[in-house]
Amino acid sequence: MKRKDFLVFGKPFIGEEEIKEVVATLRSGWWGTGPKTELFEKEFGDYVGSEHAISVNSATAGLHMALKGLGIGPGDEVITTPLTFVSTANVVIHCGATPVFADVNRETWNIDPVEVEKKITKKTKVILPVHLHGRPVEMDKITKLAKKYKLKVVEDAAHAAEAFYKGKKIGTIGDATVFSFYVTKNIACGEGGMITTDSKKLDRVMRVMRLHGLSRDAWKRYSVKHFSLYEAVMPGYKYNLTDIASSIGLHQLRRVEKNLKRRQEIWQMYNKAFANESFLTLPAPIDKDVRHAMHLYAILVDIKKLKVKRNVFVDKLIKENIGSGVHFFPIHLQPYYRKTYGYHRGDFPNAEYVGDRILSLPMGANLTDADVADVINAVKKVLHAL
Ligand SMILES: *Cc1c(COP(=O)(O)O)cnc(C)c1O
Repeated sequence: MKRKDFLVFGKPFIGEEEIKEVVATLRSGWWGTGPKTELFEKEFGDYVGSEHAISVNSATAGLHMALKGLGIGPGDEVITTPLTFVSTANVVIHCGATPVFADVNRETWNIDPVEVEKKITKKTKVILPVHLHGRPVEMDKITKLAKKYKLKVVEDAAHAAEAFYKGKKIGTIGDATVFSFYVTKNIACGEGGMITTDSKKLDRVMRVMRLHGLSRDAWKRYSVKHFSLYEAVMPGYKYNLTDIASSIGLHQLRRVEKNLKRRQEIWQMYNKAFANESFLTLPAPIDKDVRHAMHLYAILVDIKKLKVKRNVFVDKLIKENIGSGVHFFPIHLQPYYRKTYGYHRGDFPNAEYVGDRILSLPMGANLTDADVADVINAVKKVLHAL
């Protein structure tokens, strides 16, 4: 039976706590970066276990600043995966540097350390792995390469706030790790992000860079007893997080572990329901020594045997009132990247294989068992009608 109302993909899960906190912040008169943001940074840093946590107004801003903070500029190369959101590579270009792609592993869909090593040149400065869908990248191999070739590691953990790799929390391994609080992410605050680092120097540079390059945060300037003029010590960015957004993020963070438990249940429900569907490839089994953040549950559709394009499959699910997503179509095949760097089909066969077949099903702590059953029924119905 067709679901009655449309199941929106990636709808945020909000509680009364967030609403009350936002209202209190609005009434307080301090909407910009202030005490709520400072508290959010403290709690996030405690959750991750990093020395420093620097809030920003998006993960894109955070990735840009982390690279800038590490001194990345013209002539430098940054190695990343083509199977990610475009902003992961765009920020490298914002620094005046060149993004270099390394293909993914066909089973885990994460960047393959063997491919990374093949791409290292004298110009390489940073490896930028992405913990796709919340599955941790093989960080011991990435860290080993970084040591061997004296490279920095900046992690895109937009999907992976809850992830662990071999006993280490994601956010405590690389030189800097960047998290996203965009609407669809596990911790959402509209727009927002966080950078974690254990480097005091990087922390100091990024805090100044984040707000116009001013030597002191605005709210500290206004709250000191005596007036003091600000000093611009570099041409910084406008990347600070507002207290309105932090009011939401604070309560989202406090619920993060509970929400993961629910997503783990949904993950198992999908795995069980689709176990015998021969035209689907399910997410690879999860290694025992890692914790997958389970941000996205994606499947590969066998487009050859079914003789159907993935996008047609997405459309058919929409007709069943089920929203889904594509995470991701490979960056090297995007028009700008083809035109600028001369990429074409065949350059990264594994990323292309996955990118042509992948489909994310609704996943989130706000889904009821009935919602999940609707998704399962719709997928099976579409699959068997093809
Ligand atoms: C969402 C996302 C980003 C960007 O996050 P924003 O906070 O929207 O800037 C970066 N990388 C990946 C893998 C993402 O999914």
